Amino acid sequence: MLMYSERMKTTSPHVKLDRIALLYAMKAEGTPLAERLGLDAETELHRGLPARVRQGRVGRTEVFLVFNGCDPVHDVDRIGLEHAAVTTWVLAEALKPQIIVNAGTCGGFQARGGAIGTTYLAGGDYLIHDHRIPLPGFDALGISRLPATRFRAVEARLNLPIGPVSSGSSLDATEAERSFFEKEGVVAKDMEAAAIARVAADLHIPLMTMKAVTDLVDHPEPAEDAFLRNLQSTTMKLTDHMEQLVRWIGEGVTEADLKN
Ligand code: SAH
Repeated sequence: MLMYSERMKTTSPHVKLDRIALLYAMKAEGTPLAERLGLDAETELHRGLPARVRQGRVGRTEVFLVFNGCDPVHDVDRIGLEHAAVTTWVLAEALKPQIIVNAGTCGGFQARGGAIGTTYLAGGDYLIHDHRIPLPGFDALGISRLPATRFRAVEARLNLPIGPVSSGSSLDATEAERSFFEKEGVVAKDMEAAAIARVAADLHIPLMTMKAVTDLVDHPEPAEDAFLRNLQSTTMKLTDHMEQLVRWIGEGVTEADLKN
């Protein structure tokens, strides 16, 4: 109970944001921002987990930039929903941020105006497109469908489009998933956001999600080829927007300022 009341107090929308966490799945996505902001070298977030944090001050705000970390067995970044959920829990407990910003790359959709480098803020619902559980009630649990908080002042200042973000465990997409994206008007397909959103909602921590397009889901080129070709250039666009956001927060804004 004590933890709950503490958290409710620190997340008041009218308090200046002096502790923020930025959560990235891949080191390659977040390192350029960490360097630009002059954050410290990475340290362990929690004993035994590969998640890492880089910390530093930007204006009046303490910034914690977190990666899921490198899998010790497979030697690649721990992308995906399960790792994202664990890291979100651990960073919430260890860092007590007033807001979490989930930043990263995504698949986009030409049909809805997406192009390589287009950067979105989550709006509409956070969805999960590959949890198929055809049992009463559990079908809805699978899809998740959690409304994203709108940050209209950020949308306006950074001039970013918004839309539903759908997460799943695969980089490619099945025909059924493609129909789901059309039906829901999904603008960004990733592998983390919906898991982070659920944990953040449970813990009453505000969440903003910013995703930049590396590949187009409704284009014949395989996602992995476009992803690898565009990762660096798209990350630069994402980093420009994230730097603008973090420096603005560092000037001394409240959660409410980001919304109106
Ligand atoms: N093959 C890549 C792995 C990246 S997978 C490599 O070896 O470097 C994709 C990562 O970027 C995930 O963290 C996911 O959130 C995001 N992503 C980018 N495009 C995606 C897409 N089309 N579908 C799902 N996730 C995507």
